[in-house]
Amino acid sequence: TKCSSSERWQLFDVANSMVSERRLKVTSALKTALDKGEFSLYMQPQVNLSTGKVHGAEGLLRWEHPELGQVPPDEFIPIAESSGMIYSVTEWVIEQGLHYQKQIVELYPNHILSLNISGKDLAKRELTVQLITLINEFNLNPRQIILEITESVTIGKEANLKEVVDDYRRIGIKVAIDDFGTGYSSLAYLSQLGFDELKIDKQFVMDIESSRTNQTICKATCDMAHSLGSKVVAEGIESLASYTRLQGFGCDFGQGYFISRPLGFDEYLVWLNKATR
Ligand code: C2E
Ligand code: CA
Ligand code: CA
Ligand code: CA
Repeated sequence: TKCSSSERWQLFDVANSMVSERRLKVTSALKTALDKGEFSLYMQPQVNLSTGKVHGAEGLLRWEHPELGQVPPDEFIPIAESSGMIYSVTEWVIEQGLHYQKQIVELYPNHILSLNISGKDLAKRELTVQLITLINEFNLNPRQIILEITESVTIGKEANLKEVVDDYRRIGIKVAIDDFGTGYSSLAYLSQLGFDELKIDKQFVMDIESSRTNQTICKATCDMAHSLGSKVVAEGIESLASYTRLQGFGCDFGQGYFISRPLGFDEYLVWLNKATR
């Protein structure tokens, strides 16, 4: 049976109102999520591709709500950003992440921790202050902390981005360009920003074996980044074939389901123990 156009509009309205209803629910649940302790910071291991040894981990946020269940960060981070709640989320991530790093370096002194920072927060003075305070309090090495900012943040608007990045690097904190290849920034522009690490987006890595184009992109990214003096991380390594392929391209570090899924902190400690034995 065919829908009349007015029926189709009704369906469209229903679908639309379901989307905004969900958004409202997520927004209001987000307001109390921190206080209720519903967030956790998972750790996804990163390995050195040339030695196979543990490099460190990327912290990835998880939110478990009693009624909504697991809400993915791709859904709630943009909502937190547009509703003015992202800064308190970022603060929580930094506090939790550096707390974990403090515990980890007691056992593994060279461990590197990467944290995702929303472009909205990067230039906040309070963020720099919080980082310096915790780094001192926990006696951490800032060179073992990396802030990941997405490539899209580097495009346009942020005129003072270079100053902000310079400030972090002066403290010793490293900066990584995340999701590289998904935006339209030129490497020339990125290089004058002065970043430490380039993360190749998983869309190029996941099916690297079946796509010559993706192989070319990954290889070229490794070569360019290296000649600019920065390291390369591949995310989304799902198979041994991709692992060895990226190794062959001289990619420095890798993460992905083939190595490990993101793990809760206790599970991560168990993983580290096995991986370093
Ligand atoms: P991202 O920073 O690009 O993180 C990589 C995403 O790929 C993560 O999704 C991770 O779980 C997933 N992943 C890792 N290995 C594989 C693999 O082998 N195959 C596939 N298919 N996926 C893999 P996740 O955890 O759902 O996070 C999604 C995005 O949410 C992140 O993308 C990041 O942009 C954002 N996000 C996560 N945690 C935070 C946070 O603490 N702060 C901020 N501002 N954003 C965060
Ligand atoms: Ca990231
Ligand atoms: Ca990424
Ligand atoms: Ca991403």
